[in-house]
Amino acid sequence: MNVSQILKQKGNRVVSVSDNATVSEAAAILAREGIGAVLVLDGAGRVAGILSERDLVRGFASHGAAVLTLGVAEVMTRDVVFCRPEDSIDQVMGEMTTRRFRHLPVLENGRLTGIVSIGDVVKYRLMETEAEAESLRQYIAAG
Ligand code: AMP
Repeated sequence: MNVSQILKQKGNRVVSVSDNATVSEAAAILAREGIGAVLVLDGAGRVAGILSERDLVRGFASHGAAVLTLGVAEVMTRDVVFCRPEDSIDQVMGEMTTRRFRHLPVLENGRLTGIVSIGDVVKYRLMETEAEAESLRQYIAAG
C-alpha cells in the first residue's frame, strides 16, 4: 500500500492557513478541524511552512500566553518535508520516525495533493496487516 491509496480513501483536502494569520487563528482551526497540523501558505498559495501542536507548545513555553498574538510565521517550521504519492507506507513511517514528526504533506508534480498523518499511516498499516493475516488463514484453510 502507498500514499496514493491512502489519499484515495481519505481525500485530498489539506487544511491550511495564511502566513498572515495569528497563532490564535491557527489554534482555532486545529481545534475546529480536530487535526494536529496546518500548512501555512503565502499570498501566492505556495507552502511557506507547517504549524503543528508541537510548535504551539514550544511557543507557549517560550512566550507564555502572548504566543497567541504572534503571527504563525514566527512559530511555524519553514523547511517543510514532503512525501510523494508513490511512496510506500513503510517509507513514510520511516521518514516520520527518523525526523520525529507526525505529518507529511504530499506533493505530486509540484502540486499539493494531500497530507498524511501518523494516524493515517498506522490505520492503513493495520488494515494491510489484517489483510495479510486473512489471506494466510484462507491459504491454510484451503489445505
Ligand atoms: P508533529 O510531530 O507533526 O506535530 O511536528 C513536530 C515538529 O515537526 C513541529 O515543529 C512541526 O512544525 C514539524 N513538522 C511536522 N511535520 C513536518 C514536515 N512535514 N516537514 C517539516 N517539519 C514538520
